[in-house]
Amino acid sequence: AVEVEKEVKKSNEVFDSKAASSLVNELRQSFASGKTRSYEWRVSQLKSVAKLVNDGERDIVDALRSDLSKPELESVVYEISMLKNSCKVALKELKRWMVPEKVKTSLTTFPSSAEILSEPLGVVLVISAWNYPFLLSLDPVIGAIAAGNAVVLKPSEVAPATSSLLAKLVKEYLDSSCVRVVEGAVSETTALLEQKWDKICYTGNGRVGRIVMQAAAKHLTPVLLELGGKSPVVVDSDVNLKVATRRIIAGKWACNNGQACISPDYVITTKEFAPKLVDVLKEELEKFYGKNPLESKDLSRIVNSNHFARLSKLLDDEKVSGKIVHGGERNETDLLIAPTLLLDVPRDSLIMNEEIFGPLLPIITVDKVEESFDIISSGSKPLAAYLFTSNEKLKKQFVTTISAGGVVINDTTIHLAVHTLPFGGVGESGMGSYHGKFSFDAFSHKKAVVYRSFVGDAAIRYPPYTKGKLRL
Ligand code: NAD
Repeated sequence: AVEVEKEVKKSNEVFDSKAASSLVNELRQSFASGKTRSYEWRVSQLKSVAKLVNDGERDIVDALRSDLSKPELESVVYEISMLKNSCKVALKELKRWMVPEKVKTSLTTFPSSAEILSEPLGVVLVISAWNYPFLLSLDPVIGAIAAGNAVVLKPSEVAPATSSLLAKLVKEYLDSSCVRVVEGAVSETTALLEQKWDKICYTGNGRVGRIVMQAAAKHLTPVLLELGGKSPVVVDSDVNLKVATRRIIAGKWACNNGQACISPDYVITTKEFAPKLVDVLKEELEKFYGKNPLESKDLSRIVNSNHFARLSKLLDDEKVSGKIVHGGERNETDLLIAPTLLLDVPRDSLIMNEEIFGPLLPIITVDKVEESFDIISSGSKPLAAYLFTSNEKLKKQFVTTISAGGVVINDTTIHLAVHTLPFGGVGESGMGSYHGKFSFDAFSHKKAVVYRSFVGDAAIRYPPYTKGKLRL
């Protein structure tokens, strides 16, 4: 096994621009053969992805444990089941998605008929992130295959066990002439980004998002950017506090210990209500993770020492000193950080000025809950925004005025599981969306098609442009 691993490493070392170019050419030839366009190929590959996930379940859970000590339940629910469901939806709906959509025509083109034909884009690149490394890799691939494309997947090197498992399984289960995995980090991704693609789907942070977009611009390649941001949770005082806190905990710590793109990043509540909210959060956290959460088997660890140092810096910022009201325990050797609450952190602290992406939850307080609108709108547009309230007017106001990738009232993160909703960001949190039919659309070109016969050839189109024609 060690020898095989060395070989894999060796072959990856030579994955330069030349290798990337020859890979893309190979896939272009497969695409040009027309094979990926057929309904049958798409179905056979989607079934193979489903089989890969089914057969690989044990190995997937193990890889996620090795990369993140992700609890099995979270791996099964948030990665494996989500992928199975994506395959199920695509297999059930694909025929319908592929049917050209008939649309009305105008008087100008009478007589004619028109339709929108979903055409595969060609050869697409999927670059994924480490936090849900299985889901974020294969979910876009499902969309790309459903839409009839050839695809190269570049999983994140930050989750190495999952990356190598993906490479192995994709090779074993999918059509290698059209679907490939390239493992690697910055240099391999750079080599891939130098090539001409028909679409690039990137999941990760905005800094690299900009690199991806710049590389894409060179070839006028469209991009789907799934980025992050500071997703706020506003908590009004008229809520069922126990249910609200449990749902905040579910979206924060029970999602990879806060290392999730749509995890609550910070809470806004009133000065008056904050102590009650903190008390119940503490109570529920203790019920879920015990008195010593660093020993809990139900919390993921921090992915690596870089991210551990980044989170430690946020906690050690002197501007938040004395603000920790719960947690704060760390174990650097095992990369563990306990669920941590910080109350009344200053708005100019580090923790309030970057995406946290970890188990720290600052709470900022206001006199009136309505003030939260300005606070949220003064920052970059987040990937998600959450509001807990029983006030119908406030709900309506929040949904209509807060700009975010997605909004959930009285819960967190669950919009991700609604496959009939688009998933994606806006502004700094990304562009484009996917999931369900939106994945199919994201990897399709919507081709405008008009059908005419030889009757009804209006003379007005043709010169000479007489005055009489102008009056018509
Ligand atoms: P990461 O470190 O895994 O990087 C993402 C990908 O970018 C990797 O495949 C990596 O190899 C590649 N990459 C890194 N540096 C590069 C460079 N210089 N040039 C080219 N490619 C490069 O993941 P991350 O960025 O730490 O992920 C966390 C971020 O992603 C957070 O902001 C989070 O909110 C966001 N995210 C968004 C979603 C979503 O669906 N919108 C999902 C997960 C994570």
